[in-house]
Amino acid sequence: ERSESMTLLQTDENLITRADVDEDFKQSIMDAGAESVAVCFQCGTCTGACPSGRRTPYRIRGVVRRAVMGLKEDVISDDSIWMCTTCYECQERCPRGIKIVDIVKIIRNQAAAAGYMAPAHKMTGLFVTKTGHGVPINDATMALRKSVGLDELPPTTHQFPEALEEVQTIIKATGFDNLIGYNWETG
Ligand code: SF4
Ligand code: SF4
Repeated sequence: ERSESMTLLQTDENLITRADVDEDFKQSIMDAGAESVAVCFQCGTCTGACPSGRRTPYRIRGVVRRAVMGLKEDVISDDSIWMCTTCYECQERCPRGIKIVDIVKIIRNQAAAAGYMAPAHKMTGLFVTKTGHGVPINDATMALRKSVGLDELPPTTHQFPEALEEVQTIIKATGFDNLIGYNWETG
C-alpha cells in the first residue's frame, strides 16, 4: 500500500506528497480535451520556446508536470500561471502535440474559481464588465486609429454602446462578476 506521506516532488518551498494529489483535478484536465497531456515526456521544448519564461519565473514544463500529477493546490496557487500570454509557441513546437494552452486555460479557470485570479487579470475583467473592452480606449489610441485611416472608434461597444448590456448579461450569467468581485451598485 502506498503511503500518503510518500514524497512525490520537492520544490523550493514545499515537500509534495501523495496526499496532495487531486484525482478530480487531473481528470478535469483530461475531460476538457487535454487528454494528450498523458504522453508528455518532459522534454522541455515548451519551456525553451516560451517567451514569457525567458523574462519571468514561469516554467510551463513544470506546470504541465504538476498538472498531470494532479497537484491541484500547488498548481492553481502558483502566481506564475498568470504570466502565460497564450501565444501558442509551446503548443506549436511540442513534439507530442499536447494542447498545452488548453491546459493553462483549464488551470486558470480552476485557479480563478478558488480565488487565485491575478490582480492584473481581475482589473482587465473589471474593464470588460464596465466597458466591454479589456483595454480602455483613449485619445492617443483614437488619434492613432485615425492616422492609419480607421474610424476613431472600433466597431465594438465603443461604436455600439447598446451591446454592453449583452456583455454584462453574459458576465452575470456565468458568475464572472463574482470571480472578479464586481459590485454592480458602485461599479
Ligand atoms: Fe511535455 Fe510537450 Fe512540453 Fe515536451 S514540449 S515537456 S512533451 S508538454
Ligand atoms: Fe509560454 Fe504561454 Fe506562450 Fe506557451 S502559450 S509559449 S506557456 S506564454
